[in-house]
Amino acid sequence: MLKLNTSKGKLIVVEGIDGSGKSTQIDLLTKWLRTQGKLVYFSEWNSSPLVKSTTRLGKQEKMFTPTSFSLLQATDFVHRWENHILPMLKVGAIVLADRYAFTAYARDVARGVDPEWVRNLYSFALMPDLVMYFRIPLDTAVERILSSRAKIKYYEAGMDLGLSKDKLTSFRMFQKKVIQQYERMVPEFNFVVIDGATSVEKQQKEVRAAVKGILGGWIGQHDTIPVKKKPLHRIVAKVEGEE
Ligand code: ADP
Repeated sequence: MLKLNTSKGKLIVVEGIDGSGKSTQIDLLTKWLRTQGKLVYFSEWNSSPLVKSTTRLGKQEKMFTPTSFSLLQATDFVHRWENHILPMLKVGAIVLADRYAFTAYARDVARGVDPEWVRNLYSFALMPDLVMYFRIPLDTAVERILSSRAKIKYYEAGMDLGLSKDKLTSFRMFQKKVIQQYERMVPEFNFVVIDGATSVEKQQKEVRAAVKGILGGWIGQHDTIPVKKKPLHRIVAKVEGEE
């Protein structure tokens, strides 16, 4: 249901449960591509300013149902999609996304949302050129999360589902359901599976090899200005003005 990417750009996505190491890998990948002078745009799940305050309120007051949570995150995605991701693809950039529609397919369905409904919700989006799925044993991911930050949050733990009164137990039960959904998507969307339990260096080698595989022969937009200093709105305006 995701449309074919016929834009000039390349869309690369990382997916996996929390603690699977995907942010570490996409961060290294971003830096690697930028040092090669490629025009790279990075987008992170649930990061749009449009719904930030509503998301915070819904979480604080525990107001979300699986459907309203799903719709709000889809709104967040649409905002990033229309304002940044698609325009950047149109100018021939490499867009790197830390989580994409597949996160909704995994988490929302794990929350009981209808799989077809949530797939339809994102049907405006393009199928990435590459999706790397970081497969990791749940215990390893939990260990990493607990040693890297103070606590697991309510919705992250799937506490809204009433699986267990204990947050850690709930987190484990919820993440198991999320993993089940991801595993179903491996053949459905042709995910490239990266063993998230191996070293950062080994994974980065595999990540770069997979990326080279889709960039071979492709001439994208070359970056002449460091991306941090680039006035993104000008690029967006130029693309919008063309159509
Ligand atoms: P995610 O984005 O999937 O939640 P992160 O990249 O944020 O995962 O990694 C979660 C934690 O695990 C961080 O503290 C990170 O430093 C650590 N980590 C990432 N990759 C590895 C690895 N290959 N081996 C050990 N620890 C790792």
